[in-house]
Amino acid sequence: MVERLRNAIRDVHGFPKEGIVFKDITPILGDGALFRGSIDLLCETAGGAKVDKVVGIDARGFIFAAAVADRLGAGFVPVRKKGKLPWRCNEAAYALEYGEAVVEIHEDAVRPGERILLVDDLLATGGTAGAAVKLLDGLGAEIVAISFLIELSFLSGRDKLPSDKVKSVLHY
Ligand code: AMP
Repeated sequence: MVERLRNAIRDVHGFPKEGIVFKDITPILGDGALFRGSIDLLCETAGGAKVDKVVGIDARGFIFAAAVADRLGAGFVPVRKKGKLPWRCNEAAYALEYGEAVVEIHEDAVRPGERILLVDDLLATGGTAGAAVKLLDGLGAEIVAISFLIELSFLSGRDKLPSDKVKSVLHY
């Protein structure tokens, strides 16, 4: 299944800007067997550990995290770009190539000690997931694993994360 997933991912050169090779996961989403296979493998990254909530990162992370949560019988919590969540939020900033971005989580989305699986589609520089980890640490969460469908290993994003917790299905 891992190789079938790898073969389905489409490299789009120059999107969203010059010099970036965008990993397009929509061919996986559009194929029932591949989508289910991707969710199977992401669920395995939890290693059978108890998970209270799956936290997904805006926006492609939501697609995978919500399906994983349903499969594990866990809740789902969104981490969103600033200004999208309606209730009181905690925020964390992270560096982009130029300037910074901010992500938010509802202040009551996770209770201290809850066991969290953090999911996103892709780990690049680690800034986004690093900010999500900061938010979860701030709420007293216990992070079980930080799971990605794709890890761009050459960007060393896991160095910005508790790397023993990082579990990726596909490495480039
Ligand atoms: P980063 O914060 O650099 O680890 O970037 C991770 C976030 O940006 C993820 O939410 C990805 O969806 C997105 N992303 C970054 N680089 C790519 C890429 N080459 N292809 C697809 N998505 C990307």
